[in-house]
Amino acid sequence: MITIQLKPKKEESLQRFHPWVFSGAIQRIDGKPAEGELVEVQDSNRNFLAIGHYQIGSIAVRVISFENIRIDEEFWSRKIRLAYAMRKSLGLVSPDRNNTYRLVHGEGDSLPGLIVDVYDNTAVMQAHSIGMHEIRESLAKAIVANVPEVKNVYYKSETTLPFKAAIEPEDGYLIGNVTSQFCALENGLQFNVDWLRGQKTGFFVDQRENRALLERYSAGKSVLNMFCYTGGFSVYAMRGGASLVHSVDSSAKAIDLTDKNIEINFGKDSRHQSFAEDAFKYLNNLHTLNQQYDLIILDPPAFAKHREALRNALKGYKRLNAKAFEQIKPGGILFTFSCSQVVTKDQFRLAVFSAAAESGRNVRILHQLSQPADHPINIYHPEGEYLKGLVLWVE
Ligand code: SAH
Repeated sequence: MITIQLKPKKEESLQRFHPWVFSGAIQRIDGKPAEGELVEVQDSNRNFLAIGHYQIGSIAVRVISFENIRIDEEFWSRKIRLAYAMRKSLGLVSPDRNNTYRLVHGEGDSLPGLIVDVYDNTAVMQAHSIGMHEIRESLAKAIVANVPEVKNVYYKSETTLPFKAAIEPEDGYLIGNVTSQFCALENGLQFNVDWLRGQKTGFFVDQRENRALLERYSAGKSVLNMFCYTGGFSVYAMRGGASLVHSVDSSAKAIDLTDKNIEINFGKDSRHQSFAEDAFKYLNNLHTLNQQYDLIILDPPAFAKHREALRNALKGYKRLNAKAFEQIKPGGILFTFSCSQVVTKDQFRLAVFSAAAESGRNVRILHQLSQPADHPINIYHPEGEYLKGLVLWVE
C-alpha cells in the first residue's frame, strides 16, 4: 500500500479520529497513488495513523480505518452489517409501517463518501468519492448479503462524483431491477419514489421526524408547504387533519410527484391544491397582510453549497423567512429549515431572528430540529451536522 507522510503536528486531528486529511497537511507521498486507491497515512515519524481512500483535491484522504487491518470484502460487509443493526434497533425497519430509511450516512457511519437510502426492497447507493465508486460492486454485494429485505441495488453517482476525476460514472442497477409500480412506506404513509429521475436518491428521508411533528400540529389548520418536492410535509399535514393544504414548488415535476402522493394516500381530496411557482413570487402575490395560513413550512434547497456563498445564503434565508412572518396568521406556527452544511445553527438562527425582528411580531421558539437518527453525526466530525430547523410560534 502506498504511504502518505504528514507534516509534523498535522497528525493531531487524526489522533482525535477526524476522518479527513487535507492536502496541505501532506509532507510526502511514497509513490503515485491512483485516485480512489487505499493509502496508509503516517505521522512525521512514520508511525501508522490510518488507512483511507486517496483523492485529488483539498480533502486528499478520507479515512476508512484508524486500525491497521486488512480492508477486504469482509471489512465492507461488517460495516454494512453494523449500519443495518443500528437502523433495526432504532425501529426504522418495519415492513408494514416503515421501509424507508438511510442505511449509510457517510462519515456518520464511518464510511466517508458513501450514502445509501433504502426504499422497501431497493437500496439506492450514491458515491461521493472515487474510492467508493471503485468498489461499488463489492458494496452492492455487501448490502444484499446483510440487509435481508433488499433485493435490488441502484447506483446513482453521475452528479455526485468530482467532475474532474478521470471516470465516467453511469447510473444503473448493480443488482436486480425494479420494473413494477412501487411504493415506499414512511410512518404508515405511502410515497412513490422515483430514484431514476428524482433529486438525490429520490426522496428526502431526512425530514421523517420533522414531518411527523408537523402532523401533530395540523388538525383543523390551513397549511402552506413551500418547496414541497414530493409533498412529504403535505401528506403528513393531510393525515393530521389539516383543513386545507397548499403545496408549492418551482418544478412542475415536483408538483406532479406531490399530486401523485396525495392521491395514493387520500384519493381525490379537495383539501389539497398545488402550485408550480417560484417561492418568492408565490409569497409576493398573496395579498399583503392577508395572513391566510396557520402553518407554514419553509424547506428550501441548500442556499449555500460553498463557504463563498454564505453571505448571500444568509440574506436569502432572512428574506424568505421575513415573507413567511408577513403571511402567517396570528397564533400561527412556522417550520423553517436550512440544509446548507456551511450554515451553522447559530447563523441560521440569527437570520431567522433578523427576519422576525423586521416583521415586529412576537416570536417564540417551540422546537429546535435536526436530522434524524439514521443520519447520525460522527462525534469526531461535527461538519456532519447539516439539517437545522426551528419551529416558531408567531403571535
Ligand atoms: N420539503 C421537501 C424537500 C425540499 S427540496 C421534502 O420534505 O421532501 C427543495 C425543493 O425546492 C426542490 O423540490 C426544488 O424544486 C424546490 N425549489 C428550488 N428553488 C425554488 C424556488 N425558487 N421556488 C420554489 N421552489 C423551489
